[in-house]
Amino acid sequence: MSSTLSIINPSNEQVVTTVAMADVEEADRAIQRAAQASRSWRAVTPADRARLLRRFSEVVDSHNEELAQLEVANSGHTIGNARWEAGNVRDVLAYYSGAPERHSGRQIPVAGGVDLTFYEPLGVVGIIAPWNFPMPIAGWGLAPALAAGNTVVLKPATLTPLTALRLAELALEAGIPEGVFQVVAGDGATVGYRFVTHDAVRKVCFTGSNAAGRKIMAGCAEQVKRVTLELGGKSANIIFADADLEKAAASAPYAVFDNAGQDCCARSRILVEVSAYDRFMELLEPAVKGVRVLDPADEASEMGPLITAAQRDSVAAYVEETNVAFRGSAPSGPGYWFAPTVLETPDRTSRAFTEEIFGPVVSVVRFKDEAEALEIANESPYGLSGSIWTRNIARALRVARGVETGALSVNSNSSVRYSTPFGGFKQSGIGRELGPDALLGFSEEKNVFIATEEES
Ligand code: NAD
Repeated sequence: MSSTLSIINPSNEQVVTTVAMADVEEADRAIQRAAQASRSWRAVTPADRARLLRRFSEVVDSHNEELAQLEVANSGHTIGNARWEAGNVRDVLAYYSGAPERHSGRQIPVAGGVDLTFYEPLGVVGIIAPWNFPMPIAGWGLAPALAAGNTVVLKPATLTPLTALRLAELALEAGIPEGVFQVVAGDGATVGYRFVTHDAVRKVCFTGSNAAGRKIMAGCAEQVKRVTLELGGKSANIIFADADLEKAAASAPYAVFDNAGQDCCARSRILVEVSAYDRFMELLEPAVKGVRVLDPADEASEMGPLITAAQRDSVAAYVEETNVAFRGSAPSGPGYWFAPTVLETPDRTSRAFTEEIFGPVVSVVRFKDEAEALEIANESPYGLSGSIWTRNIARALRVARGVETGALSVNSNSSVRYSTPFGGFKQSGIGRELGPDALLGFSEEKNVFIATEEES
């Protein structure tokens, strides 16, 4: 039986609205509709599919403020971030609207005939999204999946369904046919896992925790179902003594405290070369104390609350007062607030240094040379993102090649662009999203040989 869930604003603990939660039968009906719609959607000409995606992008753009305000209320994202996130959905749709007409196969020289390859859509794609970036992660899956001729059922995180539900309405408004993109709000273990067990769903794109990701990958194995996993991270921000320390220290807080640290790419381990350590910490302290942790609806806010009280408790459990170097500030009163916190962690086996905290807590350690920096960076089971700060270009390239992670930046902390590939090494995931090749992950390559020998 379906039920309803109250959506709570994490910045004031007020009920925003209630949302109907689907049950397995409703998930089945949505998958059935998607399978039905798949027959006609794959036959839409590439130019028309492109036009529809462009129109969807334009409709999202014209609702940017509405979507952003929904995310502020549902997820506690700062209004500045939420506008960027809605803009990211617009941009990803626009970028992949160029893809249907360019998704061409090959002609391969062979003996006795002509050999052609075609990219066929998979059919129904199931996307399971987390609560930390509801809009961008929906867009990263749905835009290339639709462009490649698939239909999509999307399950937003239980806590944060509002923007995804609105995106489904906007898709219809843009002229995307019924059944091509549907959103089913519901529980992960029932509705989400149905994408894994239902044989009409041909691929699952999962973004979330490693615990759920492992179950999904194991479940997909039953049907040899295609699966992409975008999981956790514990990324290193490596700062060499020859770097622009002022710039590295000024930007380090935003590389981990953005979205209140609830970011898989958070640079939650800062590694500093020993000779620059004291100076770096001197510069970091005012930068951390200067982060404006305010009501996320306030235009000046740079960091909002955590998503739930449970998440706040989980984050707090990592902080041992003896290790706290310094802290920023946070509002008191209602809301799931946690002040930005910097730990000096000499023990590299501690939970705070090894586990993904998913909150505004960062650990700082010293390293003595390049080899030790790489050793510390790579001792994590994760490998999602990271940064390297140095003025030595040769070292930057050497270290970039040495760090076992999918999305690195040098003298910058920005690792996500819709036009470049994104995904993790090791336990941060399997597969890549975004970039010029994303459609390959939503297509089967078919080889067709046509004999040209004369019949005897
Ligand atoms: P989560 O695993 O609890 O939930 C993610 C989604 O999976 C939700 O929609 C949930 O309802 C669903 N789900 C949970 N159990 C399921 C199951 N057994 N079967 C099917 N679906 C299930 O994760 P979360 O707490 O929402 O998100 C935080 C995690 O996501 C963090 O670990 C973070 O690092 C990760 N993340 C990774 C990326 C990336 O791109 N690598 C991006 C964002 C978040």
